[in-house]
Amino acid sequence: MSEARIIDGKAIAASVRDEIANRAAALIEESGVRPGLAVVLVGEDPASQVYVRNKEATAEACGFHSVKHTMPASAPEADLLNLVETLNNDPAIHGILVQLPLPGHIDESKVLRLIKPEKDVDGFHPVNVGLLTSGEMDSALVPCTPAGSLVLLKRTLGDTLAGQNAVVIGRSNIVGKPMASLLLQESCTVTIAHSRTRDLPSVVRAADIVVAAVGRPEMVKGDWIKPGATIIDVGINRIPAPERGEGKTRLVGDVAFQEAVGHAGAITPVPGGVGPMTIAMLMANTLTAARRQLGLPEQAPIF
Ligand code: NAP
Repeated sequence: MSEARIIDGKAIAASVRDEIANRAAALIEESGVRPGLAVVLVGEDPASQVYVRNKEATAEACGFHSVKHTMPASAPEADLLNLVETLNNDPAIHGILVQLPLPGHIDESKVLRLIKPEKDVDGFHPVNVGLLTSGEMDSALVPCTPAGSLVLLKRTLGDTLAGQNAVVIGRSNIVGKPMASLLLQESCTVTIAHSRTRDLPSVVRAADIVVAAVGRPEMVKGDWIKPGATIIDVGINRIPAPERGEGKTRLVGDVAFQEAVGHAGAITPVPGGVGPMTIAMLMANTLTAARRQLGLPEQAPIF
């Protein structure tokens, strides 16, 4: 069998960012308003610092008004809630993102629920979860990683996914569940697998589309994959890489990539697959949020 096509998330994310920058420039010209994104970081977690820096830089590259707020890990919950309220009421800010995880003394769900749903560019507010589940896409803001995964699927398989058997492995609120909702709306036949699923290999073998969002390095083996299936690997796992030198590490996905390329029709690499799409879709959500807050019509999705 021939090798799978590698889905180039980096290149697709770059094309999405270009389109957003063009649409943002048109919005600024039309309304005089610059889409505004506020990112809030509490504490000094190194991975979160990198994510926040990337989000800020991408927002600036798209021509957005980009603001970063940092607070020490010891900041009281009330200070963060006050900041969210201030951003909720700031007309120059259309999107608010509070970087997770938050320090243990802060109630994450209390903070996320305080963000105005129309500014909730992470799509985690229960109102946005409900809008997505009920298919009200003209009002919903959709979580960025599943939204980006759907763009990769459509760029690979075309706009129509109807009738495909899709298996989503993982049922988290940030990836698995919203991914399943999106695929259902595309009229796929959707199965959600999780840690209690019986005989996962045979469930995966029935899938035309597999989305792996587990957090277990290379768990999905090559011989689980139906020949020609499309594989979206959301997992980001750091594993030891002694072959690169003592103490070195490397990133792998939830799918055993080298095995899977011999079975799949198309597959995302890790890194360079879903990861770059997540930030691109955050920009798309911020632009969408800004247009809605200005009362402007919805634009065609960036697929
Ligand atoms: P999570 O909240 O830990 O959820 C993991 C899911 O995997 C759970 O539903 C769990 O099932 C399921 N699971 C665990 N072991 C399993 C097994 N042996 N067989 C089948 N299912 C199993 O993780 P997450 O936040 O969704 O993230 C998943 C992965 O995606 C992580 O590697 C994360 O780093 C990555 N990620 C990447 C991006 C990106 O931008 N590319 C964004 C977000 C997350 P139960 O519910 O039964 O426990």
